Amino acid sequence: MQAQIRLGRIFGIEIGLHYSWLIIAVLIATSLSGHFSEAHPGWEATTVWATAIITALLFFAAIIVHELSHAFVARLRGLPVRSITLFALGGVAQIGKETGDAKTEFWMGLAGPLTSALIGALCLGIAWMLGWSVPGEPATPVMAMVVWLGYINFGLAIFNMVPGFPMDGGRVLRAVVWWITGNATRATRAAAATGQFIAYGFIVLGILRFFGGAGITGLWIAFIGWFLLSAAHASTAQAEVTEMFRGVRVADLMTRDCTQVDGNTNLQTFVHEFLLHTGRRCFLVVEKGQINGLITLNEVKTIPQARWPFTTVYDVMVPMERLRTVTPETPATEALEIIGRENIHQLPVVSNGHLEGMISRDQIMNQLLIRAELKK
Ligand SMILES: [Zn+2]
Repeated sequence: MQAQIRLGRIFGIEIGLHYSWLIIAVLIATSLSGHFSEAHPGWEATTVWATAIITALLFFAAIIVHELSHAFVARLRGLPVRSITLFALGGVAQIGKETGDAKTEFWMGLAGPLTSALIGALCLGIAWMLGWSVPGEPATPVMAMVVWLGYINFGLAIFNMVPGFPMDGGRVLRAVVWWITGNATRATRAAAATGQFIAYGFIVLGILRFFGGAGITGLWIAFIGWFLLSAAHASTAQAEVTEMFRGVRVADLMTRDCTQVDGNTNLQTFVHEFLLHTGRRCFLVVEKGQINGLITLNEVKTIPQARWPFTTVYDVMVPMERLRTVTPETPATEALEIIGRENIHQLPVVSNGHLEGMISRDQIMNQLLIRAELKK
């Protein structure tokens, strides 16, 4: 999930919004204003709307805090955290690496629901100090706000503890099975299976309620089920890739023979004698045995064909210092992750400032297919 609107950074973690979030933000603010005006017929329209909008914003802040709690545990256990993105159905923290052990997975999963429950308790505590008591109606806008936030955060904590992928509870379940059996693949299957079972449950329940006269609420429940189902598939696939590549390093997959080209070659010659002739898409640019950069089809495409005879490889290459590189010791999954994130085709493999080889998207994908075949 890529953020399209950037909000800024908290503790170095990029916080952003996906466009789909805007729809849900409007929906939540509207339904909150409906809720407040029904519960408090005496309130003026501006009070109702102001309360609804501030409550909705605080709700999204609480979701960011929930995701930050996952991120903090990840950081504590040495996993890099890149960003947090809010989208239509919640938030997602992008962790740069998969967890390597059951304990980390357990605490990372549990941190979110625990945080939501704490926020819920805090909000209801404030409401109580303001004079609210169960089951009384909150009297003031501030009270109404904290009561709603209290309930919704408890709701989030419970919903997130549903023990199936992709919910936090699924991570916790996977960690527990992993810890007991010592088998990460089996743990993934268990979390995936319960996740799918629960997702189908939501879909069936939603459809039944729709035909039972619940209308749009029923469709919403079915839609959440469908979302959970596709997310369960995706997180299972990701966990399986990680499993297949457990212990596999870049050095095991990379090619060591890289085709080199002289930097002074013009693009006309480069295209005909190198690109078309060899069928490769990536070349190292060298001068006196020294590697200066990398040139691929993408760089050539930025120059109009008429300019090719007058442009050298040097002019358009990606210089060494701008290249994203990996070491032979980098885990294969991490290389794949970098390739996907930066939307590139290959990565130079560098060790002690010396180029060892190249690793490409195709090489990793081929290995993946072979390994998947062998597992059958
Ligand atoms: Zn969570």
